[in-house]
Amino acid sequence: MNTQALTSTTNPVRILVVDDHPNTASTLARALAQLGAGVEVISASSGKDALDKVKTSGVDILFTDMIMPEMTGLELIEKLQNHPGGRPSYTYLVTAYDVPGLKVTAQRLKVNEVVVKPIRPERICQIATKAIEEMKLTSQPKKPIAPSRKKLKILVADDKPDNITLLIRYLDFEGYEIVTAVNGLETLEKVRAELPDLVLLDINMPHKDGFTVLGEIRDDPLVQFIPVIILTAARLDPSEVQFGLNLGADDYVTKPFDRHELMARIRTKLRVKEAEDIIRSRNRELNLLYEIGKELGAHTDTNELLTIVLRRSVETLGAISGSILVTNADNTQLKKSFSTSEIEMEIPKLDEIFATIAETHQGLVISDTRNDVRWQAGEMNKLNSAVIVPMFERNSLLGLLVLAHEQAGYFESEHLLLLQAIASQAAIAIENARLYSNMAQEQRKLAAVLQHAAEAILLLDQDGRLVLLNPAGEKLFTDYEAKLGQPLARVRGYDTLIKLLDEARESNMAKSGEVAWPDQRTFSVLITPIDEGGCVVILHDVTLFKTLERVKNEFLSTTTHDLKNPIGIIMGFTDLLPKAGPLNQAQLGFVKQIQSASENMNELVQNLLQFAKIDMGIELKRESVDLNNLVKEIVDEFQPQAQIKRQKLQLTQGKDELVVLGDLLQLKQALRNLVGNAIKFTPETGAIDLSVEKSLAEALICVKDSGYGIPAEDLPFVFDRFYRVYNESVKGIEGNGLGLAIVKSISEQHNGHIRVESELGKGSLFTLTLPITPNKLLSAVNV
Ligand code: ADP
Repeated sequence: MNTQALTSTTNPVRILVVDDHPNTASTLARALAQLGAGVEVISASSGKDALDKVKTSGVDILFTDMIMPEMTGLELIEKLQNHPGGRPSYTYLVTAYDVPGLKVTAQRLKVNEVVVKPIRPERICQIATKAIEEMKLTSQPKKPIAPSRKKLKILVADDKPDNITLLIRYLDFEGYEIVTAVNGLETLEKVRAELPDLVLLDINMPHKDGFTVLGEIRDDPLVQFIPVIILTAARLDPSEVQFGLNLGADDYVTKPFDRHELMARIRTKLRVKEAEDIIRSRNRELNLLYEIGKELGAHTDTNELLTIVLRRSVETLGAISGSILVTNADNTQLKKSFSTSEIEMEIPKLDEIFATIAETHQGLVISDTRNDVRWQAGEMNKLNSAVIVPMFERNSLLGLLVLAHEQAGYFESEHLLLLQAIASQAAIAIENARLYSNMAQEQRKLAAVLQHAAEAILLLDQDGRLVLLNPAGEKLFTDYEAKLGQPLARVRGYDTLIKLLDEARESNMAKSGEVAWPDQRTFSVLITPIDEGGCVVILHDVTLFKTLERVKNEFLSTTTHDLKNPIGIIMGFTDLLPKAGPLNQAQLGFVKQIQSASENMNELVQNLLQFAKIDMGIELKRESVDLNNLVKEIVDEFQPQAQIKRQKLQLTQGKDELVVLGDLLQLKQALRNLVGNAIKFTPETGAIDLSVEKSLAEALICVKDSGYGIPAEDLPFVFDRFYRVYNESVKGIEGNGLGLAIVKSISEQHNGHIRVESELGKGSLFTLTLPITPNKLLSAVNV
């Protein structure tokens, strides 16, 4: 016989054997008593005797004879079903005859089996053993509630000691921890002090009745979540039960209660509570994460952030000590520690842990730091469990967050998850802080540049409102205060700038120019549209350069003008010198040199005078110039020079009439310079072709030669003032580097342009393009 299962229970299984034949009862009882220490057998000789014997405590298994004087077995079963100690778990009816209808009645009374006599001791033991085993299986929760955790605690509040004893017996059998209270006040006290997982609450109790106690429990935020099952007397008015439920009772059980039903109800409520506890704890965690996030969001200093994360993590997880180890940008380790005790945290195998986590990206729970190879704490160690999570910034390991506790096994996987969530938030906050600090640094640099820039720098939004103004910009407006958020004042003399701004905005292209300021200053302006809309305006004060330029121009124009007459005299008299009398060969040579030098000087002076005119903005004439005539005149004028070098100077013309509006003398000057250069930079017997033609609304005048050509590296600069090419082929050719610069100025003044193509040793082609003036405009001018 297997007695193992029985002896292991703390409370014995109570078996009641009832038979009016005393021998039978005692024989069977003796046999059952041999099942082991876990069994308590009671024998009775009648129904009444049986009820007397089990008055105070219930019975688990009942064997009763059917036919007995005074009370039949069925009557006894019915009575025991309403027993205050609960009805028997297993009931067996023993009968000599299988009376018709007996089984139906037995079924109604939930009799487990009708056993037909004769019943032998072995048979009864067999039935009892089976019942006990089944009872153990069904009465204990299939899956133990929170197996790894503490026992679930139930507070039994009842003023009747019998009831308490009975409930203790049942609850203890189920493995619960029990706390008891015998009146309302004590119940409340214990609910608050013990925080039980469930309360079994009797309604009729001294000091405070169950309803009052229930009301107070539900009003107290600390304990209001504890499930309460009220125990009501059968005589209680149903409306009172309703009252209890309305007060917040989770369930009720009417006395005398059925043991199985009560246990099942308790289990259900505990399961619900357990689920609710998890939800509540998740809510708390979420709320906490939100709070931590909020606190972190308010800081931008990495050090401060780490301190907050550490403190909040230690507090939240109830750790003793915490540490954050961060790898800095320069790969040095920054360590932050926070502790609620004096215990110093040491991580013997830190490098290995770092490496593992960097590879697996997973946190660790170390339940026993002494015996875990990953930690291997020394003898002096006081921190027996730890949890470690990584802090990742994008994909790189920023650092580790480590918490430790004195108690081994303190940390569980839920701690790991929660800490991981905190660490993720921390990593985001740290990354934000870094970005913020970088940005702030950049902003400081930019501010320094803006602060110290000599140029006035303005930022305008897309509606032309001033968004930013540097200190130099503040000094820009002397007659009014430019305010941020407002557009520049109109009709105050800044209209040229405002016009340029409008142009830049409309075209969405950079614009530059010179603007005269109402206070007589001159600024060079660069306006650059920006992607976000609006534009950056940089104004550079060029007043000083303007003055210098004016002085230079005035000086040049006076001196060249003053030089013009003496040069004319020198040239005139030098021409006369040979005519005044015979000169010897040497004297003739000197005269020639004076002539050549004074011609050069004259050309230079003429060119400088030309520039002085241009620079001082002397207005051009606007007259109709027939380009066909002009080029003919030029060819005629230069034919003698070309002949001297035996060059072929040719003109090609189309049939189109080509008239432009401009300054005849200036245009003639431009062509003189181009053709003069062509003859000058082409060796003897070369060819120079001058052509003029119409291309759409433009006239193209081309001067092509078969001369020395211009080296590619010099080409971009030949139109600069005083620029000359120095190489072997043009060595010794006189000039001052102003001719082409003058051509460029003249062409621009006529809204045209000049360009050059050239190949060294083969020749050059200069093309002057001028806009053709429509006839109606010409006639208007000519009138
Ligand atoms: P310059 O007084 O020297 O002629 P220009 O301004 O007229 O000054 O010309 C600048 C330089 O460009 C010349 O020194 C010369 O080297 C080059 N250049 C101009 N025209 C020609 C050309 N037709 N062929 C070759 N080189 C030329």
